[in-house]
Amino acid sequence: MPFLRQDVLSGEWVSLSAERQQRPLTEAKACPFCRGEGTEVGTTSFDVAVFENKFPVFRDPGTAEVVVYSPHHDDDLAYLPRESAALVWEVWKERSESLRQREDVQSVFIFENRGAKVGASIAHPHGQIYAYPYCPPRLEKERMHFESRCPLCLSGEQAGPTVFKNRWWRIEVPYAMRMPFQLWLRPLRHVAHLGGLTSEEVSSGVSLMQDIVRSYDSYFGLRTALVMALYQDITIGATYHLRWDFMPLDRGQGQMKYLAGSELAMGAFVADMTPDFVKSELSPVWDRIHRRQERRT
Ligand SMILES: [Zn+2]
Ligand SMILES: [Zn+2]
Repeated sequence: MPFLRQDVLSGEWVSLSAERQQRPLTEAKACPFCRGEGTEVGTTSFDVAVFENKFPVFRDPGTAEVVVYSPHHDDDLAYLPRESAALVWEVWKERSESLRQREDVQSVFIFENRGAKVGASIAHPHGQIYAYPYCPPRLEKERMHFESRCPLCLSGEQAGPTVFKNRWWRIEVPYAMRMPFQLWLRPLRHVAHLGGLTSEEVSSGVSLMQDIVRSYDSYFGLRTALVMALYQDITIGATYHLRWDFMPLDRGQGQMKYLAGSELAMGAFVADMTPDFVKSELSPVWDRIHRRQERRT
């Protein structure tokens, strides 16, 4: 059973769980996320499956869920048919709405660790939902900056270089980027959490998310190791502006970004490149990938 402890020095909460050490770290012979009785999915037929994590980081208070994107072991969210990826978004939205009703949940965090290099212990395409019983430190810090005005709606010199923009979304390199080739995908409209998005915003967001990951794969020439994270605020009356954050751990020429001394010990990030460089490298790839997908739809 996981439990919470608060650090007496920083005030930050940590979740401790003895069971998680027992998790299978390499892919088991029988994939627990493939369909079938006796698997964690527990059914022989599904499109998208959601269930409680067998090795949760939180449980009463809070909870942790797994979202299996497809019944097929070798699928990938970025390459699913558009309708299947849209269904995943609908599931995220539904779970986010449902979990935010719970009194023991302060924050709903939807994310995917893509690839074994980021620690995904099961290859079958899936993401996770952490329903934190507290507000995680990064979100708490960000929330303070939304109290009087929205820094993302203000267009000023601190806006990051824009890679793409349509009627609903903007893709940009964050002005103060923390990870190599980091990108933000955020709605132009000021929306605090997934439940506030319109069906048009969702439908456009689905294809842009897929194209971002495809662009990375094309740029790096491999299946990019990355963390894809939804920053949102589910509290009533939230003044927050949601975004998807794409944080690759690959940084080209076979190299990876490791979190080391400054990041781990001090939480102070050091980026090895600038936003303008990222824009100039990724934009041509984006244009090619996105135009190709547009033609297909
Ligand atoms: Zn599988
Ligand atoms: Zn805003």
